[in-house]
Amino acid sequence: MATLFTKIINGEIPGEIVYQNEHVVAIKDIQPMAPVHVLIVTRAEIPGLSELPDAGDHTHILNAAKKIGEQLGLTSGYRLVINNGVDAGQTVPHLHAHLLGGAKLGGFGEEGVEH
Ligand code: AMP
Repeated sequence: MATLFTKIINGEIPGEIVYQNEHVVAIKDIQPMAPVHVLIVTRAEIPGLSELPDAGDHTHILNAAKKIGEQLGLTSGYRLVINNGVDAGQTVPHLHAHLLGGAKLGGFGEEGVEH
């Protein structure tokens, strides 16, 4: 069965696509955590970073992030985050990176660690 992100990519459910190429599609996050919050999703339905083949799509994600940063004018910076698995709070099992920017972001991990 298609993942949530594949359904957005295929136009079966709504989503705002801000960038795409043959390898990845970037969608605006529905619950933004920063003024700019884009999800860079692999077209291939790879469940997560743990399942990424060694010669896989990581370069496509990073190249897309760079292009999207330029396209959206994020000249003062942005952050790229991948939640992998339960401990990281991954909720959608389809490999994606969060690109966050548009404001000065808090220090990494300021939300604390649950024990
Ligand atoms: P993660 O928790 O790393 O798996 O990230 C999943 C992200 O998908 C979350 O930031 C959600 O806000 C986002 N999300 C969930 N449903 C949608 C949707 N329909 N359109 C856009 N983003 C979504």
